[in-house]
Amino acid sequence: MISCSDFMAEIGNYLEGDVAAEVRLQLENHLAHCQLCHVVVDSTRKTLQIVTDTGSFDLPAAAFKPITERVMARIREANR
Ligand SMILES: [Zn+2]
Repeated sequence: MISCSDFMAEIGNYLEGDVAAEVRLQLENHLAHCQLCHVVVDSTRKTLQIVTDTGSFDLPAAAFKPITERVMARIREANR
């Protein structure tokens, strides 16, 4: 069983669909049992939708905090 911090470490890849099937299974298994991570995934996914729609990183990021910032950093890296 993976921990919340394991989950958070992979959340960017998970949302981008960029994880091995085995890892994805573990993440989804964790998600099914963990309300916290469920909420984080939900918020992050919505944030990503806003980013994708507007092409802007100027978000009310304070609402989402560091996890989202890390995801954003990954996106910036990927788009470089
Ligand atoms: Zn969790």
